[in-house]
Amino acid sequence: MLSLPESQLLINGDWIPATDGGTLAVTDPATGEVITTVGAAGPADVDRAVRGAAEAARAWARTSPAERGTVLRAWAGLIAVASEELAALEARDVGKPLSDARRNVWIAHDMLVYFAGMADKVTGATLPSRLEESFGFTLAEPHGVCALITAWNVPALLMMAEAAPALAAGNTLVVKPSEVAPLVVLRLAALGVEAGLPPGTISVLTGLGTDAGQPLVSHPLVNHVSFVGSTTTGKAIMRGAAERLVPVKLELGGKSPNVVFADADLDAALPLIAASITENSGQNCNAGSRLLVHRSIAADVTERLAAIMAATRIGHWDDDLDMGPLASEAQRQKVEHHVQLARGAGARIVTGGSRPEGERFAHGYFVTPTLIDQVDPTMAVSREEIFGPVLTVQEFGDTDEAVKLVDDTDFGLQVGIWTRDVSRALRVVREVRSGQVSVNEPSNVGVIGLPFNVTKASGFNSGGGYTAMREYTAEKAVSMRLGAW
Ligand code: NDP
Repeated sequence: MLSLPESQLLINGDWIPATDGGTLAVTDPATGEVITTVGAAGPADVDRAVRGAAEAARAWARTSPAERGTVLRAWAGLIAVASEELAALEARDVGKPLSDARRNVWIAHDMLVYFAGMADKVTGATLPSRLEESFGFTLAEPHGVCALITAWNVPALLMMAEAAPALAAGNTLVVKPSEVAPLVVLRLAALGVEAGLPPGTISVLTGLGTDAGQPLVSHPLVNHVSFVGSTTTGKAIMRGAAERLVPVKLELGGKSPNVVFADADLDAALPLIAASITENSGQNCNAGSRLLVHRSIAADVTERLAAIMAATRIGHWDDDLDMGPLASEAQRQKVEHHVQLARGAGARIVTGGSRPEGERFAHGYFVTPTLIDQVDPTMAVSREEIFGPVLTVQEFGDTDEAVKLVDDTDFGLQVGIWTRDVSRALRVVREVRSGQVSVNEPSNVGVIGLPFNVTKASGFNSGGGYTAMREYTAEKAVSMRLGAW
């Protein structure tokens, strides 16, 4: 039984149907069965939610920061109590193993606690003046109404990474989750309302990008737009925001490499590198989708990785194995298309690239983990974000060549460096153009408060972590003449 009302939007603290009565089916990607329906918001619903958020904005901004922190902590408390239910919602909706969803829900919870603690630590600066009787200072103030449009791959975490700092800083928020996996976002927001977020402080508009996302970006009362999704949609969002000159924060796609030097600890590295492309069926923006390996160990590494990937246990969300289906049929077709293109271009499919056999997989959107070598840097498979469990292999001869290959991409999200040589690791850390770098681990998401930075076609104004409150506040510069007139 779902703890969500069917076909409803959460606007200004109430569950209501879409104005035109539209609904969208939400399916389980392991079976293709409909789990439930959600409301399909249109421009009238966007207007209602944004107006509610604008009305709530002044009071929420004036609520004492300590009090805002208290409400957010209460919200985190409700999330902790409901964590199993939330994890099941995300797991079933996206198709990922339950343990993965559980981990993500707890990271979302921890983020909320982190930013609740920051609510009363937002400060400005006092500054010296060249005029004897003048005094200067800055105020960090909320933007007002913030819009958040997110992807479907890690919905709880993507929502909370923005909602928590935005609300802690005193903004109100209208969220448009992806229609592919909106359930956990609806339930999280409902818990926020239950915890004491005033009506209008958070609303959730499920619906399509064109019907709900676009009108949200162009609504005249929205003061800040945060977007997590593909690079193509990110450009459309930016064009929309440019029309009204509102600030945008973009977290977009990636084509992230793991760079394996000859001295790497392969026993430790290879299972982690394989997991970085099979986790969430490769549908993570920071998935390690390119393997760059030193020529002297390339054959051995490819063979060992193929064996690890072929042993990946695939199942439904509640089987809780290593990997589930892709989140939609469209996503599976995209993956299969890329594998076909690569094969046609002369690359070798070392393992995978097919659908798993058996009745358990007959109706879902499954593909097997796929390792492809003999690729060259011009092939689509080594350049485009596939967002599936597809790993390509390229070889390098020395550190300079490795750095060149790392940067030979439009994206700039994450680089994993695998070596025992600390000097070499630091050299590569400094030379590559990437928002994030990790050494001897596949990503840096374990570090509390580390910004989730991106660059190049992966976006900008990213952050999260300890810098997030800057993004969700606007600095006002003030000067004041002292003394008698
Ligand atoms: P999309 O860009 O297709 O969609 C993202 C969101 O934007 C969805 O809610 C979508 O609505 C909405 N949308 C689509 N068109 C418009 C529009 N014209 N105006 C406003 N909103 C619109 O991405 P996916 O959902 O397919 O997610 C996968 C992508 O997200 C990958 O590229 C991945 O790398 C990236 N991503 C990046 C992360 C990061 O932190 N850098 C983290 C996670 C994912 P709907 O689909 O419901 O119609």
